[in-house]
Amino acid sequence: MNASEYDLVVVGSGPAGQKGAIAAAKARKRVAVIDWPAMIGGVSVHTGTIPSKTMREAIFQLTGFAVKTLGGNGFRNHGDISVRDVSSRVSTIVARETELIRDQLTRNTIAIIKAVRCF
Ligand SMILES: Cc1cc2nc3c(=O)[nH]c(=O)nc-3n(C[C@H](O)[C@H](O)[C@H](O)COP(=O)(O)OP(=O)(O)OC[C@H]3O[C@@H](n4cnc5c(N)ncnc54)[C@H](O)[C@@H]3O)c2cc1C
Repeated sequence: MNASEYDLVVVGSGPAGQKGAIAAAKARKRVAVIDWPAMIGGVSVHTGTIPSKTMREAIFQLTGFAVKTLGGNGFRNHGDISVRDVSSRVSTIVARETELIRDQLTRNTIAIIKAVRCF
């Protein structure tokens, strides 16, 4: 990376980095975002908001818990849901969200630069 190619280099592609980068790109600045490929989207996408809420929602759906608590007639206990069922839903949503953020950054002509560990 040649730093002089950019007006702004944002470290971290979490919600804060994304908003800052997009605001600068819309102001016609040349912008790059640096992060580890497996962390595009930040904590929110990979270990925080999205996985935790997806996991909760998957458990509600797979067990029928939401229907039961609302007193719905259609409730059937789905019995044995596995950790694999839940984690498969979580990884599908996390992958989709990551792609969405990548698309949004590249659509705004923001370069995504791969971080490297120096220690
Ligand atoms: C379990 C959990 C549940 C949550 N639920 C919610 C919720 O429901 N609602 C809500 O509003 N918030 C929630 N949060 C909080 C939310 O995830 C954070 O507020 C948000 O992610 C902060 O965004 P950020 O951009 O400041 O930082 P982060 O999302 O932490 O992003 C920082 C990024 O910087 C990168 N980075 C760090 N150092 C370097 C470096 N040296 N070089 C390159 N890249 C680097 C990291 O890889 C990371 O991608 C939750 C958090 C957790 C942990």
